[in-house]
Amino acid sequence: MADVQQDSHDSAVTDEWARILAAVEQQEIEFTRFFWVDHNGITRGKAVSRTSLRDRMSSGIGLAKTRQASNLSDLGQPVPGFDAVGEVRLVPDPRTFIPLPYAAGAAAMLCDLVDIDGRPWAACPRTFLKEAIQACEPLTVRAAFEAEFTLCRKRPEPNSLEVLDDTLCFDARGFDVTHDYATSLARALQQQGIDVELYHPEFGAGQHEMTLRHDDALRAADSIVWHRLTARALAEQHGMWATFAPVPSPGFRGNGNHLHLSLWDDAGSRSDRRNVFAEDSDRLGLSKTARHFVGGLLAHLPALVALGCASVNSYRRLRPGMWSGAYACYGQDNREAAVRIPSRLRGSAVTSTNIEVKVGDSTANPYLLLGAILHAGLDGINNALDPGPPLQEDPNLLSPSEQERRGIRRLPRSLAEAVDALEEDEVLMSALGPMRGALYPSLKRADIAYMDAMGTEFEFLTHALRY
Ligand code: GLU
Ligand code: MG
Repeated sequence: MADVQQDSHDSAVTDEWARILAAVEQQEIEFTRFFWVDHNGITRGKAVSRTSLRDRMSSGIGLAKTRQASNLSDLGQPVPGFDAVGEVRLVPDPRTFIPLPYAAGAAAMLCDLVDIDGRPWAACPRTFLKEAIQACEPLTVRAAFEAEFTLCRKRPEPNSLEVLDDTLCFDARGFDVTHDYATSLARALQQQGIDVELYHPEFGAGQHEMTLRHDDALRAADSIVWHRLTARALAEQHGMWATFAPVPSPGFRGNGNHLHLSLWDDAGSRSDRRNVFAEDSDRLGLSKTARHFVGGLLAHLPALVALGCASVNSYRRLRPGMWSGAYACYGQDNREAAVRIPSRLRGSAVTSTNIEVKVGDSTANPYLLLGAILHAGLDGINNALDPGPPLQEDPNLLSPSEQERRGIRRLPRSLAEAVDALEEDEVLMSALGPMRGALYPSLKRADIAYMDAMGTEFEFLTHALRY
């Protein structure tokens, strides 16, 4: 049986590759970029010429292992096992092939990092998410990231970032200021097969948000990678600079990258598909499974923060009063809670039932973050963890003793605190495995020391440029 499945998978892949090669010829694509996202959440790649694509699709492109241990200035960090010796391969997933609407003559694919013997490499973030999705089987995961970003007038000159507009949150004028850009971004995303759902100018000058429709978990993570690449490339073409940094400059409003998700039972026919997070008789519309999932999230939140708020700059955003979810608690439509239960939409109560994890930002590697969130939620389901009652008040309005009485903890205040929490979390460390579990904390500790040495101004600007 396994062989038959493998054969049919291989022939599907071969068909896919034939289709890609034909598209490359027909659309005169000279370079196909092979992208991956590193542990610092930076998308990097190497490109393959038209004539070499056929060979490289299966063999992949060689990449020095040490590239995974580069910091935001591309300086290699001293992580054991990531030195001058050793290679992995960038092997593309043909289902992610996209002719880039903003770069005529170029296409791109997202890659897995594969060992030279052909097996998945133990530090690969995308493989981590694939394994987490498998761990949820027979249930499937639907998810959507929603990234906020800041539009600035131009590529920042040293030490300066000037926001594009001074409009208010949801201000009607804000739509006019960005109309050409926003419509071209929506079109470019649709051309890449990504469904745009909503758009608005948001809180704070220059802040914008274009949300994507939920999708299966791997595609949701892939889509947010395309979203950031597209939003930034088009901004430059419009003479602007888009940054997804958590806080790009002093006084700017924080940019989050919240994650909405639900678990589904897709067995049976299309009409039988069932959102297993939904339960009509419950006050919040949540099933027992969903509540246990929330219990798992709350139990692992301090460690999840290390993966979601993945940079030194993240902790300028993850603060009370920023609607970023700085407290470990959950509640319906509670925007200060790390886990928000959105009230259900009339007319689609069951399908719209989902859980929102607010603590992530765009410095996170979306594959590591979503994979870890699934492992945390599964731990809650498997051990029937009780999240307790929802918090229907602003935690900032409760006295410290009342917060303590209700078990509402403040989440880590720095990347250092969060990385310590990650290393103490046996469930997530075991899910990450020894290689990721060694690389990630070492890289983050090196970032902390580097940013500390370089100073605040450098930190703001570096994050504004890199993300
Ligand atoms: N900007 C907030 C954050 O950093 C989120 C605001 C909202 O709820 O949309 O997470
Ligand atoms: Mg928002």
